[in-house]
Amino acid sequence: MPTVVITGGAGFLGSHLCERFLNEGMTVYCLDNLCTGSIENIEHLGTNEKFHFIKQNVSDHILIKSDVDYILHFASPASPIDYLQLPIQTLKVGSLGTLNALGLAKAKGARLLLASTSEVYGDPLEHPQKESYWGNVNPIGPRGVYDEAKRFAEAMTMAYHRHHGVQTRIVRIFNTYGPRMRLEDGRALPNFMRQALKGEPITVYGDGSQTRSFQYVSDLVEGIYRLLMSDEPEPVNIGNPEEISLLDIAKEVIELTGSKSKIIYESLPVDDPKVRQPDITRARTILGYEPKVHRKEGLKLTLEYFRQKLGL
Ligand code: UDP
Repeated sequence: MPTVVITGGAGFLGSHLCERFLNEGMTVYCLDNLCTGSIENIEHLGTNEKFHFIKQNVSDHILIKSDVDYILHFASPASPIDYLQLPIQTLKVGSLGTLNALGLAKAKGARLLLASTSEVYGDPLEHPQKESYWGNVNPIGPRGVYDEAKRFAEAMTMAYHRHHGVQTRIVRIFNTYGPRMRLEDGRALPNFMRQALKGEPITVYGDGSQTRSFQYVSDLVEGIYRLLMSDEPEPVNIGNPEEISLLDIAKEVIELTGSKSKIIYESLPVDDPKVRQPDITRARTILGYEPKVHRKEGLKLTLEYFRQKLGL
């Protein structure tokens, strides 16, 4: 059975990927420096003899002795408040971390899948966003540390593919939610859920007319698995195209929780994208991908996790 290295494997997405690849019977090396990931996310995998955790910052050289078949490069702060607090680490893991992961892929003859992001489209002037769109990114704004690191990571990945013949895949991940997001992660859904469950005010930034399209984590994991196993080296969007305004999703969370929380409005962060919706034609055509979990169902599953975390 193949061996998989998952960088950022103790994070929200990484831990779900570790689980999926172990379920496929593969050996998993989970690399994480735990700066935003947590041992709690992977504790339950510790009893599986095919699971190996290595605490390491992948911006430093990666040493794996065994053969490696697949590398999933997911290490990076990913919530806007995280990458605002960890700007240099974010730039380093997107650049040096990606270089190290690609170097490992080249040395081992492994296939590498890069976790890229809808943030490469910035505040998009094309809607919905197709993979052919080059984006509208402010390189020197506060979000630039994440957006440009991921854009650089894509460029580096394509260079290793073209120049060194490394087998590479690039997934552009749109807003994803589900169990194992941190309560204090700072992103919209964890904030709204925590606030609604605790009866605190729901903080909508700006007037709430900005849109996002939220996908449940299991749909993303399926898309990533299919992309890794495909022959497609060019970027593929994976997301749920059902678009909603932030005000409407705040109301949806209040309704689902039966909370008495009121909505309050706070200032919109700098360069906050006004709209975001994936065009998933390529994922549908190349991977036969289709999101399965409806938002209400996904939100209920996630709320269960949040209730448990809050001891409710
Ligand atoms: N947002 C909000 N209230 C919050 C957190 C976020 O209104 O408590 C907004 C944020 O300004 C953005 C959207 O929700 O317009 C999604 O933000 P998030 O941090 O989840 O991720 P992004 O899609 O911006 O990377």
